[in-house]
Amino acid sequence: MADTRTVQQRSANMRAVRSKNTAPEILVRSTLHRLGYRFRLHRRDLPGTPDLVFPARKCVIFIHGCFWHGHECARGSLPSTNVTFWQTKIGKNKERDTRAQQELKKSGWKVLAVWECEMKNKIRFQNRLVRFLDRKAGAGKVQSKGRLE
Ligand SMILES: [Zn+2]
Repeated sequence: MADTRTVQQRSANMRAVRSKNTAPEILVRSTLHRLGYRFRLHRRDLPGTPDLVFPARKCVIFIHGCFWHGHECARGSLPSTNVTFWQTKIGKNKERDTRAQQELKKSGWKVLAVWECEMKNKIRFQNRLVRFLDRKAGAGKVQSKGRLE
């Protein structure tokens, strides 16, 4: 009994950690909002439920916690206990990320995945977001009728 509950709690915690209103997410949102961008959050009808969606620009942004999404940086290193569990868990997250991004690109979305560790240099990070969002549509599928301003 106790074990079952622990497992359930743990996966509930993981869902919470992965999907909602993390500090990095809030930072990205407030930065972009201040710059005048308008976006939707967590569109469940799109693969991977992108954190930020810019429908008119056909852009999506994923904000990845380094640990949960398996970044190759200090924050992404696995705990020294339960190694197999974590490798499997994080490995699945990475596969899911890759698959979602491929599906989005196939449907003509531009995809940017940013890591929480990249936010340390705020100016550089902000420039990167802006460069991505204002880049001209690439692979033909995006039509110009959705352009803003
Ligand atoms: Zn990282």
